[in-house]
Amino acid sequence: EQYDSASLHGKLKEYFGFSSFKGNQEAVIRNVLEGKDTFVLMPTGGGKSLCYQLPALLMDGVAIVISPLIALMKNQVDAMRTFSAESGIAHFLNSSLNKTAVTQVRSDVLAGKTKLLYFAPESLTKEDNVAFLRKIRISFYAIDEAHCISEWGHDFRPEYRRIRPIINEIGPAPLIALTATATPKVQLDIQKNLGMSDAAVFKSSFNRPNLYYEIRPKHDVDREIIRFIKQNEGKSGIIYCLSRKKVEELTELLVANGIRALAYHAGMDAATRAANQDAFLMERVEVIVATIAFGMGIDKPDVRYVIHYDIPKSLEGYYQETGRAGRDGGEGHCLTFYSYKDIQKLEKFMQGKPVAEQEIGKLLLLETVSYAESSMCRRKTLLHYFGEEYTEENCGNCDNCRHPKPRIDARAALRMALEALRDLGDKFKTDYLINVLVGKNTALIKSYGHNKSKWFGAGAEHDARFWGAVLRQALIMGLVDKNIENYGLISINKRGEDYVAMPYPVTVTLDHDYDEEEKEAEA
Ligand code: ADP
Ligand code: ZN
Repeated sequence: EQYDSASLHGKLKEYFGFSSFKGNQEAVIRNVLEGKDTFVLMPTGGGKSLCYQLPALLMDGVAIVISPLIALMKNQVDAMRTFSAESGIAHFLNSSLNKTAVTQVRSDVLAGKTKLLYFAPESLTKEDNVAFLRKIRISFYAIDEAHCISEWGHDFRPEYRRIRPIINEIGPAPLIALTATATPKVQLDIQKNLGMSDAAVFKSSFNRPNLYYEIRPKHDVDREIIRFIKQNEGKSGIIYCLSRKKVEELTELLVANGIRALAYHAGMDAATRAANQDAFLMERVEVIVATIAFGMGIDKPDVRYVIHYDIPKSLEGYYQETGRAGRDGGEGHCLTFYSYKDIQKLEKFMQGKPVAEQEIGKLLLLETVSYAESSMCRRKTLLHYFGEEYTEENCGNCDNCRHPKPRIDARAALRMALEALRDLGDKFKTDYLINVLVGKNTALIKSYGHNKSKWFGAGAEHDARFWGAVLRQALIMGLVDKNIENYGLISINKRGEDYVAMPYPVTVTLDHDYDEEEKEAEA
């Protein structure tokens, strides 16, 4: 069936009560209606669910929706039922249902009442479910939170890897995969694993212009937080800490300082947790101190600040958590306290985990360090990480743009780094190149014989920090590519070659040296 714009809008209004589509929704929905594979990258709150809900209602057969969390599934099904007079319109099948309930669901599906059938991946793979699904007509498969497929996402679930083989068993139908995690690496993993390399990709911007990003050295952090809260009296804020113990200590400290604050972490009993969350939502307290357990699915539009007492272990985490500020489009201050010691602590936590996981964890941590220490625009850096180019010189809404460090000429240095990289090839990481340039004789460098290369020590007049800033600039300028398959390896590209042939003026700002800046501030 064909839908022109008016009739599609009519259906949107009829089923959901909305008068217009948000962002890419209409284009996505048209692609799904045409029976093509679709990949949707959209930040949280962008309206992903509608991208499969509306086509499911319009198409013949049942849409199979795979979603990782039983609680979220239940919310969605309840929401769908409020739109429809037919209570069988949406169902879920998971381990929480008893036999009678399962029979009821199946009879609704067979009777053609059901348009959306939700599964957790582990239920989808159950044999009797597979046998049942083989009997029915499937309009398409929607894979929500598709980043769960990737070990490079923030929520890897091995069961997600079994989705494709199971779909093959059940029978083919178009796929729509959706996620709010958009690093190029995760994107590649998803498309490969689901066998949808040719899917139409709809990627929304991840920029949140109203969020102010700030990193401060982690020094006297308790006092700084108390001062910050008092300066923002009456506004709602979330403070994230790494450990439950810290959550409790800090909550006590804040309360002792006359601040209305409550704690939230997974070690508390469910009733207390729910009560504290409610108190925050209903604004009986202004601050919630929490571990990252807090926030999933919470929609408080006027959170005015998010403070990270400890730096998150990945930029995905940072983006998700800071993203809970300013949902209403109003002010949102994202303040993170950073100390390299915390990075070392996070590294220590990883010990004992499987080697592959540790390696990934370390590379993700390096990205976090690089973000925190860089004096480049935070927004530019963050969006670049998500594969998005931000072209404004100055975003005007991050600490580095509002308080820029002096820029220094880096034309010669950039050219040298690019030439050296060209000679090294595409098998090395940034820190390897830096070590070559500053002439650090590591075992690895010796094993490749690069200590004899003409580039060894060629950049020794600058230190490693300087070269780090130069190479980050090269990445952001698109002169150097990051290898997505072998994460961390870098290589020069065509634009980089052009730069070497004809360099133009480039300036960089040196990374923050927070220990040094602190000493200066005290003096
Ligand atoms: P996501 O899954 O991307 O985080 P949701 O699907 O939960 O986002 O949608 C976020 C909010 O936006 C929901 O409250 C939803 O009802 C609303 N929404 C979705 N599409 C529209 C639209 N076209 N017009 C108005 N509101 C919408
Ligand atoms: Zn900026």
